[in-house]
Amino acid sequence: MRTQVGIVGAGPAGLLLSHLLDLEGIESVVLEDRSREYVENRVRAGVLEQGTVELLTDTGLGDRLHREALVHRGLELRFDGEGHRIDLSGLTDGRTITIYGQQEVVKDLIAARLGAGGDIRFEVEDVALDGLTTDVPSIAFTHDGERHTLECAVVAGCDGFHGICRKAIPDGVLTAYDRTYPFGWLGILARVGPSSDELVYTNHERGFSLLSVRSPEVCRMYLQCEPDEDIGEWSDDRIWDELHTRTATRNGDFTLKEGPIFEKGVAALRSFVVEPMQHGRLFLAGDAAHIVPATGAKGLNLAVADVRRLSEALARFFGSGDTDLLEGYSDACLRRVWRVQHFSWWMTSMMHRFDDHDDFQRQVQRSELAYVTSSRAAATALAENYVGLPIATLEAG
Ligand SMILES: Cc1cc2nc3c(=O)[nH]c(=O)nc-3n(C[C@H](O)[C@H](O)[C@H](O)COP(=O)(O)OP(=O)(O)OC[C@H]3O[C@@H](n4cnc5c(N)ncnc54)[C@H](O)[C@@H]3O)c2cc1C
Repeated sequence: MRTQVGIVGAGPAGLLLSHLLDLEGIESVVLEDRSREYVENRVRAGVLEQGTVELLTDTGLGDRLHREALVHRGLELRFDGEGHRIDLSGLTDGRTITIYGQQEVVKDLIAARLGAGGDIRFEVEDVALDGLTTDVPSIAFTHDGERHTLECAVVAGCDGFHGICRKAIPDGVLTAYDRTYPFGWLGILARVGPSSDELVYTNHERGFSLLSVRSPEVCRMYLQCEPDEDIGEWSDDRIWDELHTRTATRNGDFTLKEGPIFEKGVAALRSFVVEPMQHGRLFLAGDAAHIVPATGAKGLNLAVADVRRLSEALARFFGSGDTDLLEGYSDACLRRVWRVQHFSWWMTSMMHRFDDHDDFQRQVQRSELAYVTSSRAAATALAENYVGLPIATLEAG
């Protein structure tokens, strides 16, 4: 088997890369170890930056998105029992965020690729990379019980944080930066309409909570919890009680709507980056190269920005043999990645409960929240990062 770009992973990064390459007339094969049904129903992120929506729209993936997605122009920071609106659009020349589940983006991408005759192999096993520092790297894998070797010019490692691509890079090449947080998020999906028109981020003495939404009928809500929290200890009643407590307002003007919970789970929060994001002919993109805590709603948007950059570099490479953009891929991405890392770390630090006994940190945190919600300059810093800074600004060095 031969192709131009061998892509490992059919998450947002791998699928979008394959789609963007196809539009440039570049062939790819996507290898995914899960089933199509599994990846199409894997619930994760749901906040799309305006730049992400524009890219999906400009490349023919906007139809269902624009029919079904919810556009938000602000969000609320709630602390000391009081809500404060951050006017995202008013502070950023009208930019917005769009609520559309990651699994919906994945469904649209798979439909587009298969509709265009794209080659996605689901349920492959034992994926292994070889020859990364040669001009003909290859990917070995098992599919339907048969072992295959896919020869390509370039390998794209889009296989997420636990994938094999990053691990295929020899020891000593990568530098890893890692920060784990002393808490996790207990996330639920509930069949109920939103309690608020916009996302509500709450800093409460019992811990952070987030009221988010996936559609007019389904809400996504989170509670700060222990990183190794046993979800079995959390009955639906206990989850609702805790959400009520953390989101209550002092004047009682907020009512949290309840509905049947149909999914719950615990995720750890982590910041992680490897540098460089490339080795020979292997290019890492998305969660394979970096993880952000979900507080800034950036993971999916970062993955999209990486593959946008990679597809441009590959178009140049296959079009004219010019390797400049490919060689600059990692540096350009990392400038953007670190901006987003800082924002996600900052939002996480501002909104969560840390050490119970650290009164100093608690007071500093309250002062910061008061500042962000009262100073136009500080609110603008939050808003422009949340809706997404222009990629060209972020990648310029
Ligand atoms: C549990 C969880 C919850 C999240 N919640 C949020 C959220 O609420 N908000 C937010 O902004 N972000 C969230 N994120 C982050 C966001 O979902 C990711 O940043 C995004 O999925 C990155 O896309 P990706 O394509 O790089 O990686 P992934 O989506 O992880 O895709 C990688 C793909 O590679 C496949 N794969 C892995 N190993 C192999 C292999 N050996 N061979 C072949 N295929 C392989 C995987 O099955 C997967 O399909 C969450 C992430 C996780 C893990």
